[in-house]
Amino acid sequence: MPSLSPDARTEPVGPVDGQISPRYAGLTTFARLPRIEDVPRYDVAVAGVPFDAGVTYRPGARFGPGAIREASRLLRPYNPRLDVMPFRAQQVVDAGDLPCNPFDIAQAGREIEAAAYELIRDGARLITLGGDHTIAYPLLRAMHRVHGPVALIHFDAHLDTWDTYFDAPLTHGTPFRRAAEEGLFIPGSSAHVGIRGSLYDPDDLTADAELGFTVVHCADFETRTVAEVVDQLRAAVGDAPLYLSVDIDVLDPAHAPATGTPEAGGLTSRELLGIVRGLKGLNLVGADIVEVAPAYDHADITSVAAANLAYEYVSLCARTPR
Ligand code: MN
Ligand code: MN
Repeated sequence: MPSLSPDARTEPVGPVDGQISPRYAGLTTFARLPRIEDVPRYDVAVAGVPFDAGVTYRPGARFGPGAIREASRLLRPYNPRLDVMPFRAQQVVDAGDLPCNPFDIAQAGREIEAAAYELIRDGARLITLGGDHTIAYPLLRAMHRVHGPVALIHFDAHLDTWDTYFDAPLTHGTPFRRAAEEGLFIPGSSAHVGIRGSLYDPDDLTADAELGFTVVHCADFETRTVAEVVDQLRAAVGDAPLYLSVDIDVLDPAHAPATGTPEAGGLTSRELLGIVRGLKGLNLVGADIVEVAPAYDHADITSVAAANLAYEYVSLCARTPR
């Protein structure tokens, strides 16, 4: 990569050129983009959050950011489905990993919120690579400080609106309950997508319904098309600032085996990418991908899906009016 002269440079600095250095070579940043300290300004920051002290079953999502970055080496400059060059239309950087105490969940939350806020306070967008789903709560707090309440579209097999687990209020099963208590999202504009699997009790669904989420169950895709679901989500979000939170377990274990709490009967990666692309033009302010636990992966299936999802996020940012 040529040396940078902030005064002379006007075009965004893109990834390392794959025609010069093959994609499997060189140091690893997301999509082989410049680090945040390598450029004078940025429009979109991609950051890892290697935190998994909030899991209730399989651990290992702390290794998610590294695996997703490694799988992102193959991402190319042009997104044909959204007709955009996402790394040319805007300055995208890898902001490294946010600090997160591995032994104190509340402290980790404060650290994540503070670091995320620093990245977005001047108007940049933030894409985070988790980490377990606990991190969505401090990330939503940071978003709220800049944007106020957001429309939240949450893709997950699970509701993640339980109150406590073993009396702990901050776990990967509770972030959206805590967020609801603080008014961090707009109830009528928010949705869960891909919900499925066994629950503790019928009351799980009724307690969640009181928080105001629209629910698109995974079984709904047996009779509804991706386009129909996209239309429903777009109508719910409207002009509100939009935050996307994707638990990779929304995908079927065939498409994402490397996750902490797998459930059979999930979305295909094609369906998920299609829904996310369908949100183009909405006011996307931030997005996360969580629960990639690469020790359970096979041939990088899960981290490839996550890297491609992150690419769609970056592309959506380029298609979002400023
Ligand atoms: Mn989940
Ligand atoms: Mn989750």
